[in-house]
This record gives sequence, C-alpha cells and structure tokens, in this order.
Amino acid sequence: MTNASESSTTVLQRAEVAMQDEFLRKAVRFTTDRLRNKKQTVTASFGNWEAWRERGEAIRAHTIANLDFYLGQFADNLEKQGAHVHFAHDAAEAVTAVRQVVREKGAKQIVKSKSMVSEEIHINQHLEEDGVRVIETDLGEYIIQLAHEAPSHIIIPAIHKNREQIRDLFEADSANNLSTETRDLTAFARRRLREAFLSADIGITGCNFGIAETGSMVLFTNEGNADMVMNIPKTHIVVMGMERILPTLSDLEVMAHLLPKSATGQNVITYMSMITGPKRSLDHDGPTDLHVIILDNGRSRQLGDAQFQAVLHCIRCGACLNVCPVYRQIGGHAYGAVYPGPIGAVLSPLLNGGEQYSDLPYASSLCGACYEACPVRIPLHDMLVHERQRQVQNGHGKPLEQLAMKGYRQMFAKPGCYRLAVRMARSFQGPLVRNGKIRARIGPLGGWTATRDFPALAKRSFRDLWPNLQNGGDSDE
Ligand code: SF4
Repeated sequence: MTNASESSTTVLQRAEVAMQDEFLRKAVRFTTDRLRNKKQTVTASFGNWEAWRERGEAIRAHTIANLDFYLGQFADNLEKQGAHVHFAHDAAEAVTAVRQVVREKGAKQIVKSKSMVSEEIHINQHLEEDGVRVIETDLGEYIIQLAHEAPSHIIIPAIHKNREQIRDLFEADSANNLSTETRDLTAFARRRLREAFLSADIGITGCNFGIAETGSMVLFTNEGNADMVMNIPKTHIVVMGMERILPTLSDLEVMAHLLPKSATGQNVITYMSMITGPKRSLDHDGPTDLHVIILDNGRSRQLGDAQFQAVLHCIRCGACLNVCPVYRQIGGHAYGAVYPGPIGAVLSPLLNGGEQYSDLPYASSLCGACYEACPVRIPLHDMLVHERQRQVQNGHGKPLEQLAMKGYRQMFAKPGCYRLAVRMARSFQGPLVRNGKIRARIGPLGGWTATRDFPALAKRSFRDLWPNLQNGGDSDE
C-alpha cells in the first residue's frame, strides 16, 4: 500500500492503479455522496450559510494575518496554565521533542487520537523504532493502522474499507471469530481500545483549534476517544500545526458550526473537548504533565505570500475532497501525500518544497467545486493555477507543453495568424471527424480524446457569420 510520502511513482501512475480498483471507486463515491447530501441538507436548514462562510473566512484571515501575535498569546497562556510549550521548526524537531518526553517518562505504550500532524511527522514509525507501542484510537485510524496503510481521507481515514475487510483485520489481530455486523465490530474495537486507554503511559492528540485568549486546546470527535486519550494517561502531548489558532472563544462558536456541518453534515459535533492546562488539585481527571508541540514544517513560508497565505486558513474539514471529481475517482492514496484531495494538492507541494509533490497541482480539473464547498472560502483552484505557474517558472514545465503554449500565445496575439491557423485546421480535420466530433487519439492530445469527445471546428466561424447575422439573416445561411 502506498506509503504516501515515500512513494516514487507519479500521481498519474497511482491514479491509473486506483482507477482499476472498482471497489475503491464505488466506496469513495458512495461515502462522499452521503457526506455531500447531508451537508447540503444541514446547511440549507441552518440558513444564511454564505454569511457564515464569510464570517469564517474573516476570522481565519484575521488570525493568520496576525499569527505571530496570537501564537505568542497562546504560548504565554499555555505556560501560565502550567503546560510545556515546544516550538518545532520542522518534523525532526517535533519528533525529538516527543521522543524526549517519552524517554523522560520511560513510556512503553502510547494511545493516540485525531492528529494528521503526527502523520505528517511520521511519529508512529519513530516511536516504534524506539520500542514504544503506539495505538491509534479513532476507529478509522485503528483500522488502517492494522492494515499498515496511510489515511485516505482527512476525516474518514478508512473510507476505502468495507465490513468484510475490517472483520478480517480484526480477526488477524486477535484470532477471534467475528461477524461482519457493525455492532459486533465496534464492540470488539471498543473492548480492545479500552484496554489500551487504561494501560497507556502517554496520550498524544492533535488539536482542531488552539484558543489564544485562554491557552485552551479544542478537539472535535464523534467517538469520545480523544477524551480518554487526554484524560486517562498521566502525560499528554498535543502535536499541532502552528496555524490552528483562533483568537477567542467566540470565534470558536463560528467554527463549531462550520466544521461539523461541512465535514459530516452534522448539525453539532458529538464531543467537543477542551483542555486548558494540566490537572489542577481540585480536578477529578486530566494529565498531570501537558506538553504542546507547535509545528511549523513549511507553514511559515506561506505567510506574507499573497498567492498562498490563505491555505493556512484551512480547518481540515475534508469538504473539498467530497466534491472533487478527481478525488472521488481515485481516492486518497493516489495523491501519495499525507493530505489528499484538493487541499492536499495545494498544501503538500507548499509544505514540502522541492520536487517531491510537484505533479500534484496537475491532479485537478480546476472546476472550482472545492472553493464552493470550502467553509472558509479558500480559492484552492486559483492556488493550483499559481502552483502550476511557479512550477513552469522554476523550470519544471514539460518542453513540448511549453513549446505548444508559446505557439498558442503567438497565434492568439496576431489575429491574422489565428485566422490562418483556424482555416488550416478546418481543412485538415476532415478525415478525423465523425458525427461532428474528433475521437482519434492525436499525439499529446490523445489523453483528452481517449475519454472525451473533442468538438470539430464549425464549418463557418462566428466572424464569417456575423455580417449576415447583423442583417437579420440566419446563422446557418
Ligand atoms: S480547504 Fe476548505 S474544504 Fe478543504 S479541508 Fe480545508 S477548510 Fe475544508
């Protein structure tokens, strides 16, 4: 299975493999359809959805434009509450910070919940190399951990698995005989995970939002497992991206509507858990030692960049995946990166720099559905175009494509040239046209005509027809 970041194949090659997997395509389409429909129903009944989106965008834009201030305020408040704050410039520094805590505590078992960022820094592999057992406790993450796979959706990591496959994974792990009934499967996972919660030395979670004014961290879940991870082990580590900040609790109110409605079509999230500092003397539960690792890992490069800063507004709801015609055909693993779908196609090359994900911005039809779905109105389709421009400016364009574009530009810049080219194309297209369409696979355009019809040039151009039309004639004359 694709371990995304290590993959040496191209997105096109991975997409071709995914396209052969009928089950994957059906499963992804079925689930994303359901999520999309639920979202439509819930946002329509909520009312003023566009106004909420605008408010969400304004909050995120203000926060990111003033991120240095709010991060400082957040870190100060965390420390005032008794938490330890670690700023990590890159994945290696974040891993070192986690390893240090794990060694200090002599930890042997860790439970985890809700953290894409920990996928980004590959913390499980590093800890397992140190002989530490890490158990994912979100049901979907638990399933794909047993399958040794990477998540294939931001909020539904096991979107590509069916009940039989899940039953087989559980049986292989436990030597139990299980049915494929959802109730039995979840009961089994619940039993296993309860044992893990009770015996873990450390809990690791991500963080949906960090609240600057209070130094609190907020987690949205539907399973309640993040509460167990946060409250049962004596030590808790939060690993979060530096952009996950909100200025105030009233801003959280807006996000508490935007996120669950966009992600799963739920009116409200089942559990919204908030942690503010380690356990105090009168608290009944909570970690006695709290560490917060705030990760940059390429994010600060987007600050001040007019074309890409808004990518930091993302609240990781996954709504853009559910509407993307590309994601819906190929699923998440084909992106070969931790973050799949339209947000992944934009974010992965930006975060990682270099050439590793340079083909991802091309994995898009630029239809703009992701922008329409995004609760904080991130113009992902524009960013994909900007990324393509940068790839070309940095010399990564394909020579043939560049030549074609140059010719195209010159032709359009000179009306005489354009008219001549169209006349020539009209005379030569004859043998290729069937029922008004060109279906032949011609050179580099073959990829297009393999799956779509290419309309043939009309017998007469609009310019030729125009004088007649002006005189009230028929366009067909
Ligand atoms: S880009 Fe927008 S729609 Fe996509 S995950 Fe981020 S917030 Fe959600």
